[in-house]
This record gives sequence, structure tokens and C-alpha cells, in this order.
Amino acid sequence: MKNLFLVLASLLALLGAEAVAQGGPVIDVHLHSYAEIPPRIRADWADGADARALTAPASAEEHMRATLAEMDRNNVVLAIVSGSEASIRAWQEAAPGRFIGGAALGDDGLPEHSVDSLRALVEEGTVGVLGELGLQYYGIAPDDSRLDPYYDYLEASGIPLALHTGLGPPGGPHSFAPAFRVALGRPTLFEPVIAARPGLQAYLMHAGWPYIEEMKAMLYIYPSLYADIGVLAWGLKREAFYSALRNLVEAGFEDRLLFGTDQMFWPGALTLAIETVEVAPFLSNEQKRAIFYHNAARFLNLSEEQIAAHHGR
Ligand SMILES: [Zn+2]
Repeated sequence: MKNLFLVLASLLALLGAEAVAQGGPVIDVHLHSYAEIPPRIRADWADGADARALTAPASAEEHMRATLAEMDRNNVVLAIVSGSEASIRAWQEAAPGRFIGGAALGDDGLPEHSVDSLRALVEEGTVGVLGELGLQYYGIAPDDSRLDPYYDYLEASGIPLALHTGLGPPGGPHSFAPAFRVALGRPTLFEPVIAARPGLQAYLMHAGWPYIEEMKAMLYIYPSLYADIGVLAWGLKREAFYSALRNLVEAGFEDRLLFGTDQMFWPGALTLAIETVEVAPFLSNEQKRAIFYHNAARFLNLSEEQIAAHHGR
């Protein structure tokens, strides 16, 4: 009897584990690499169940290894990782073909690279996206004219933009980001940029949460625009995330939502985020596959060969 119980328990554990990965490959459009991390820092600001228990690895090297292990475990075949040029290179060397580099901001809140050096990094294959541009943390609006040359380059080259919108860690303006302002996260502040550049490929990170109504308006008016669900799937209360996700899906945008974790210092958030989307009771399997993989494959213009390889064909 006891043995039967053990067999049943391990069978259930196996089913539970498979439920995470069995749906097919995943693309994570929202990872960060770091030169160093605050060791053992906890996600104690998070509202998501289980997220507060997450602890950061002890070093940047361990953080990268733990992230790769989480990716393997969850069949995450490709990810956009944003960070300094040096940290992007380190991740790409550790796992060739798994990471698209995202060129991030320098200390002044503007892109780390000039347009010319960005172009060189794109041409050598190190960078494939501009962002995450966390302009909001520096009190800079998306349509600041200092960014115009970057946006023009992106439109001309077809390289996508990854723009932070919406939320930030609670207490930010009183600690690490004194210039952060809530209203600078509004998705409609991006409108002058995209209205002037019909060819710009962009995704608004965090789907502008909590400005979901503005996000819907932007997605409706600009059919080339996408949104990611970074941090929402594991950092918010599940009810709040589901309410936002359902709102976007019911409005008809299931084909323009990208899965992203924004796990920051906490690799374990990747599994939490995937599980939360996987068990969303209002999503069909097709909608989950679109959000986990197919929308990103389309957005990133992946080739038939890449898609086949990701599916093990
Ligand atoms: Zn962000």
C-alpha cells in the first residue's frame, strides 16, 4: 500500500514536471545579464506567490549558469538577453546560438553605444535588439529627441526596439532611481516615435502594466507593435496578471503578446512565469503556443530552418 502511494506520488510529480515543458519550445524575449549581481538578494518586493522566496545566486557566473539550467529545464530555445556588451558576449560564448544580444543603456540613461558602434555590433552578430531601454528609470520620455538617430537606424535596418514601459520596483524613486516617474511609463508616450516611423519594429515591455487600456489602444492602432509580459507573470499577484492578460487576449491581441520573464537576479522566476501562463484557465493551447513561441518567431523573423530546429525536426 505504501509502495503504491509512492508510485502514485512520483507519477503525479512527473506529470506536474512535464506540464511545464511539454507544450513545445519557448522564446524568452526578456532576460538580463549582469557584470555583477548583489549576491543572495531576495525578490521580497514581489507580490507573486512563491516569488518572494527566490534568492539570487552568489555571483554573475552562477547567475548565468543557473539561467541556462532553467532554460534547459523549460525548453527555452532562444532568449533576448540585454546587458553590457561584455556580459552579452560572455553569455553568447557560454551557449552559442541561444542568445540574441540586447544593447542596453549606459550610466546616463542613454544607449551605451553610439549609433555607429551599435551598427558594428549588429553587423558582427553580437547585438540583434536595441534594449531594454529603461528610459523611465532616468526620467527620460520615449520621444526624447536624443534617441531619434537610434530610432531612425532601427527603422532603416529592421533591428527591433525593446522599450520598458509601465512599472518598476516599489520604492524606486526613493532609492536606486530618483528620476523614475510613474507617468513616464505610459504606452501612449511611445506614439510620436512609432507614428513617425511606420517601419519600426518594436515591443513594449511589461505590456505597459498597469496602463493596459493605453496598451490596447496602441496595439489596436499600430498593427506592427508587440508587447511582452515580463515580470507580470511572476512578480504580480496572479489575479492581477490574469486580469491584464485576459483583457489583452479578449481584445484580440493574442498574436502580438510575447513571453518574457524579466527574471533579473532570480533565475527561478523563469519556471514560475512559465507555469503561470501554462495553467491560465482562459487560454487555449493554441493561444499559449502563440505567446510562448510563435509570436516571437514571427516578430524576430526566424527562418523555417530555425523554427524546425527549435521543434526538433
Ligand atoms: Zn523593464
